[in-house]
Amino acid sequence: MTTSQQDRDQILRDALASRGHRYTEQRAAVFHFLAVSRSHPTAEDVFVGVREDVPGISLATVYKSLEAIVGCGLAHKLSFGDGSARYDGNPDPHYHARCVGCDQIVDIHVDPRRGALESMVPGPTGFRVTDYHIELTGYCADCSSG
Ligand SMILES: [Zn+2]
Ligand SMILES: [Zn+2]
Repeated sequence: MTTSQQDRDQILRDALASRGHRYTEQRAAVFHFLAVSRSHPTAEDVFVGVREDVPGISLATVYKSLEAIVGCGLAHKLSFGDGSARYDGNPDPHYHARCVGCDQIVDIHVDPRRGALESMVPGPTGFRVTDYHIELTGYCADCSSG
């Protein structure tokens, strides 16, 4: 079953309220755009996408909305080594691989509870891993076959 727009709206309202953020139509539009997008858009992509539904929204508002939504844990910000950032509204745990040929982001699904990475940081350090961000780079199927 897919989450309806109404359900998503309630999830957003609750999450924003729990962090002391206000629910706004702009934030809702940004959240809905992220939730249905699987292309890991940049802030500019989100801006272009939501501008159709929310005329007059500014890029600055999109940036602030994205920060609020990421701050609530409803989306992930993927920061890359070159300073660029993409946004991901997919709540399922997964890794990302970026194609250096066409710049698309490919989702890599693994079960993090299987603990491959956590188990690489064992006892003596006393470090407890709660989250991690990995940047895999290479060539996607399209670019490899070219
Ligand atoms: Zn590619
Ligand atoms: Zn993703």
